[in-house]
Amino acid sequence: MNYNKKTIYDVDVKGKKVLLRCDFNVPQNKETGEITSNKRIVAAIPTIKYLLDNGAAVIACSHLGKPKGEWKENLTLAPVAKRLSELLQQDVIFAKDIIGEDAKAKAAALKPGEIMLLENLRFDIREEKNGADFAKELASMAEIFVSDAFGTVHRAHASTAGVAAFLPAYSGLLVAKELSVMGKALDDPKRPFVAVLGGAKVSDKINVINNLLEKADTIIIGGGMAYTFKKAQGCEIGKSLLEADRIDYAKDMIKKAEEKGVKFLLPVDHCCAKEFSADAEPVEVGENIPEDLMGMDIGPKTAEMFAEAAKGAGTIVWNGPMGVFEFDSFANGTKAMAKALAESGAVTIVGGGDSASAVEKLGYADKITHISTGGGASLEFLEGKELPGVACLLDK
Ligand code: AMP
Repeated sequence: MNYNKKTIYDVDVKGKKVLLRCDFNVPQNKETGEITSNKRIVAAIPTIKYLLDNGAAVIACSHLGKPKGEWKENLTLAPVAKRLSELLQQDVIFAKDIIGEDAKAKAAALKPGEIMLLENLRFDIREEKNGADFAKELASMAEIFVSDAFGTVHRAHASTAGVAAFLPAYSGLLVAKELSVMGKALDDPKRPFVAVLGGAKVSDKINVINNLLEKADTIIIGGGMAYTFKKAQGCEIGKSLLEADRIDYAKDMIKKAEEKGVKFLLPVDHCCAKEFSADAEPVEVGENIPEDLMGMDIGPKTAEMFAEAAKGAGTIVWNGPMGVFEFDSFANGTKAMAKALAESGAVTIVGGGDSASAVEKLGYADKITHISTGGGASLEFLEGKELPGVACLLDK
């Protein structure tokens, strides 16, 4: 996969109409519809400002929620247009449709330095189906396409990939940063390259482990997925999460790592509970977990061992928490890992989703080189998969 893609800095946008795919999929209060976090809108501002300041007319678009092709009033992007306007301190013209009369008339009248926002792309079923006619209509309003919604680049949708068949396609600043930091980590990492994987299931991360076994010097496994590996090593795991149909795979991976000289670190002690509950009494045990307990977090010796491995690293990529971090009593392992990354001096990259929210919740976000804005997209990135929304951009 080529990550070296042209960005908005590689094109003269002056006087051009730019179709800009943003990620305005903001969280909202279910009852009032009020936007509960600005974060994604704020993140889009640098690219928008750059385009406007350099004389482009910006036709922004995004999806919001999962309307699945139906027009749903509670998923209109109108509140986003309002918030964006407040943040930019300029008018944001809102189109009442996507590729309809209103959008087309407003796009045609749009002047350099002005911005408009189309209605929720997923109100039209052809968006997610990557309908060529829909993509063509979207593209017809603009002269350049800019992709800045990293969270959706793993999807081949009309607005993430389809439009690139009709317009020259560039990355915005958010996508460019994701590609340069994560692309470099995978293609040419500063070594030693340490990958830290956690989260609930082995089956979700099989392709990530396969890919990283080819690239990393050390692979650290924690979280619920570690117990299938411990079982494969012949340890007792009590009532912990187990994917019995993945034990052979786990054995293969441990063997493969050995053959390749990749260090493969698994927990050597655990923080357990009798039941899966926030109030459960934490019980620390060694390598084997008694029958009546389940592993909820890595133990203190493991946390120390993992932190030690992070210390000398050149690059660390982390995806998935070390335990049930949502429960305070079982957040210590994840906390220790976040601290280890923050203090490592390495280039540190945290995949989106749960590990990103853990790092943010635990207060280490500003000490991490890069926190990916896309959960699914960053996982597919680590799998080495071709991402349709990246592949469609112009090569440098
Ligand atoms: P993922 O989406 O695969 O990264 O998984 C994240 C989820 O894994 C979080 O909600 C954690 O609570 C959960 N998790 C982590 N460790 C464990 C564990 N030992 N047992 C059960 N769930 C876990």
